[in-house]
Amino acid sequence: MKKFIRENIDHQPIVDNVFKIVNLANDAIAKKGKENIINATIGSLYDEGGNLVALDTVFNTYNSLDNRTKAKYASSFSGNPNFRKQVYNWVVQDTKLDLCHSVIGTPGGSGAVSSTILNVLDEGQTLIIPHIAWGNYKSMATIANCKVQAYQMFDGDAFNITSFKETCHEVMARQGKVLAIINDPCHNPTGYSMTVEEWNQVIDFCNELSNEGPVIILDDIAYIDYSYNLERSRDYMNAFNRMNDQVMIVVAFSCSKTLTSYGLRCGGAVILARNQEDVRALEILMEKHARASWSNIPNAAMENFVKVTTEHKDEFNEEKGKYVDLLRKRYEIFTSEANQCGLVYYPYKEGFFVTLKVEDDDLLTRFHEAMLAQDIYTIKVNKGIRVALCSLSVEKCQGLAFKMKDILDSL
Ligand code: PLP
Repeated sequence: MKKFIRENIDHQPIVDNVFKIVNLANDAIAKKGKENIINATIGSLYDEGGNLVALDTVFNTYNSLDNRTKAKYASSFSGNPNFRKQVYNWVVQDTKLDLCHSVIGTPGGSGAVSSTILNVLDEGQTLIIPHIAWGNYKSMATIANCKVQAYQMFDGDAFNITSFKETCHEVMARQGKVLAIINDPCHNPTGYSMTVEEWNQVIDFCNELSNEGPVIILDDIAYIDYSYNLERSRDYMNAFNRMNDQVMIVVAFSCSKTLTSYGLRCGGAVILARNQEDVRALEILMEKHARASWSNIPNAAMENFVKVTTEHKDEFNEEKGKYVDLLRKRYEIFTSEANQCGLVYYPYKEGFFVTLKVEDDDLLTRFHEAMLAQDIYTIKVNKGIRVALCSLSVEKCQGLAFKMKDILDSL
């Protein structure tokens, strides 16, 4: 049956639970009217009127670009030089990193994550991910013929450094190399952000572990620009300066979220290491991989990012800031009600989602289904229920935690 296609690969079709539930919610809206449905499924930023946010400062700039800028190929497979430079500036901002670096332009943060997995691990090796995580990490590992092993994200309300260390030790002992994803700040789907001290502990541990083999941390910062304290959002990167020459960090940056430009497929992988030759070695592989897969990323998307974040930086930050404030308002309502009624959620600090904590798998399924039956549409994740505050209006957030707790108590 599979004679025409690759044999040595997982042949299961994509199981996209998100789109399935999104469609159910849309059907319900069509039948019963949107005022009667809680649709907490959509992982993009929506305004209070239920419309996708497309920032004026971003798209007016895009629309002012010359048609030829939009038509043109990029000037290199690794991205236009001015884009690569500006991604680095934007990602690190005021942090002074004393590390060698390079940036590869990628189709969104997805391209940065998948290219890192493909070019760091050999087939059959294991990628380390958090136990609650964006589902695509696993898909990306699978398509690269790699396995995944998860560390527990939390110890109480803190990052579970013990589990992280144990998992890394196990994988290192098996394959003599570690590639571990940390999705921070604004972790999807819990909204957790690690403290500077937690990052210091991670890097100190990586240095120690690197006695046994190379250690690569893939820091997925997709939601960083929705931190509630933007000025401090890059402080943790100072911890990177502690790393030794056997440790590498790749920061995966997404223009999709930062600019609300999901469809423009633009982002970057920022490679950081002590030695230039190590940076260059990964840069070469990533550039070849780009050439051999997507070739190059949209020229206009790169030019737009540069213009928005330099020429229109203040207006852009101001416009986006209003939505960061809106997210905070939604979160304050939802979590204060959850606290009042004892609805338990994973430690949230900032970001697009809050995730309810339900560790019993059977209860989790029943809870999710019971909410669907009452027209509350959410996404079931590992050991939890993801509530997309990013697309839920303040009005819809009001009273939601109470309704959820009532449903949970009735099971
Ligand atoms: N990382 C996380 C955790 C995400 O949730 C997403 C998108 O949903 C991405 C990376 C990549 O997004 P994009 O490829 O659109 O930049």
